[in-house]
Order: sequence, then structure tokens, then C-alpha cells
Amino acid sequence: MSRTDRTAPAAPSPRPHGAQPLLRVRGLQKAFDGTPVLRSVDLELRSGQVLALIGPSGSGKTTVLRCLNALERADGGVVDLDDVRVDLGADPTRAQLDALRDRSAMVFQHFHLFPHRTVLQNVTEGPLVVQRRPAAEVRAEALELLRRVGLDGRADAYPHEMSGGQQQRVAIVRALALRPQLLLFDEPTSALDPELVGDVLALMSELAREGWTMVVVTHELTFARDVADQVAFMDGGLVVEHGVPADVLGRPRQPRTQQFLRRLL
Ligand code: ADP
Repeated sequence: MSRTDRTAPAAPSPRPHGAQPLLRVRGLQKAFDGTPVLRSVDLELRSGQVLALIGPSGSGKTTVLRCLNALERADGGVVDLDDVRVDLGADPTRAQLDALRDRSAMVFQHFHLFPHRTVLQNVTEGPLVVQRRPAAEVRAEALELLRRVGLDGRADAYPHEMSGGQQQRVAIVRALALRPQLLLFDEPTSALDPELVGDVLALMSELAREGWTMVVVTHELTFARDVADQVAFMDGGLVVEHGVPADVLGRPRQPRTQQFLRRLL
């Protein structure tokens, strides 16, 4: 469903696949209190593709996502996302960082829903307050998205009345409602009870099939193998190995990747 198709019901949909990278990250660097956390991270992702970012705890995966979404200010590197280029080493302006933030939306491990707002209010807050879009359109789009993820009838519920899996589906809907170019998922199933993981992964697989461009930090190697177009293995603030899942997960070349995968099996 294209965004310009006026006969289609209001719901955000991904852009058509493209040959050009939608996202290109070069030399991304970040230190916390003088300790380098990202040494020089390079990534590239075409429109409509899914990148799984894997690696040991502390390797810098979350920091990459937070820098891409400008939740964290990187110290150096150049990020191209859609039509925006930000040179993070060259003192970017607030407007440049906002432009980067506007093009992506993040789904967090612990959902980060506003506890005192309803599901509908959680989903519509960004489009209404930040994007200043018309209320009727935003509401219709939010209800349609909730219906699509099986949460129709829950618009007036509060997060604490829902399971973790339902809350994460709300958080995904909230991200989609921003009509981003890029979806960023930070271990979206790690905080869920095991029996709730499947639903969220199934929804993410569906989004991938629909053509959303996604970067997913995950320990779910089956998801990475089956859904991702590319896998990047990070260790010590660097992308150590990067390629198609069959190579990185099936025939890793780097000893550190081999060791990491052996520990998970
Ligand atoms: P991963 O997602 O791979 O587990 P993170 O990106 O969360 O790794 O963290 C990488 C390193 O950066 C870790 O050593 C972590 O402790 C550190 N770190 C992350 N965020 C902060 C912060 N806000 N302040 C200080 N250190 C941080």
C-alpha cells in the first residue's frame, strides 16, 4: 500500500525498495567519560532490508541505535539517512539532529510506554504533539494500526492492564505511527516472558515482509537467520563481521564471531 494511494485506508506503509542505501553509517564513534564504546562503526542498509545487529553484551549495539535516533550524540562519524546527512564530528546543529531523529523510530526493550496514558494516547502523542498532524487523521491511523496488530478494542486500556507482549505491540504501533523511514528495535523481546516472544517476533517478521527498513538488536538468532537480509556482529565497539545470515551465522570467518555463536548454541 503506497502512501500516495488515496483510496487505501489510512495506515503508514513502507517506501518502495531502492537500490541506493537508505542508511549509511561511516566511522561512527562514541565515548562515555573518555572510554570509547563505539570505535569506528560502518553500516549500510538498503530500503526495505532488515539488519540484525548481534554481539556480546557491552559491545555497543544499543549505543549505535541511540546514536542513529539522536538519543545519544555521537562524537564522530557521518550518518546518511534518506535525504539527511549529518557529520557528527562537525558540531551538527539541533535542526540536523532533529532531522535524523524524525526519520527513525525506536522500539525499546522495556517498551517505554507512558504509564498514565491510554494505549491510544501513547500512540498518538508523537504524531500530534511533535509532528503536529491533524487529530482526526492521526486517530484513524492509530486505530487502524492497532487493529492490524490484533489490539482493536484496547485503545482505552492502560499499559499496566496489558501483557508485556501486548505492550510491546503498542510500542511498535507507536513507532509506525510516526511514519518513519527506519525502524530501530533494541532487544524488543528480551524483557518478555518466553510465551509472549513469538507474537512480537511474528509481528516484526510481518513488518519485514511489508518492506519496512529495520535495524534489530537481538539475541534471537533464529529471527536473524530467517528474517534479516544482513547480520552485523559487533564486538568491542566495532563491526567485526558483516554479511548475509547464511555466512555470518552459518560460516563465520572471524574467530570472535565463531566464539560468540558457539556460546549461544
Ligand atoms: P550492548 O547494547 O551491546 O550491550 P551498549 O551500547 O548498551 O552495549 O553499551 C556499550 C558500553 O557502553 C557498555 O560498556 C556500557 O556500560 C557503556 N554505556 C552505555 N551507555 C552508557 C552511558 N549512558 N554512560 C556510560 N556508559 C555507557
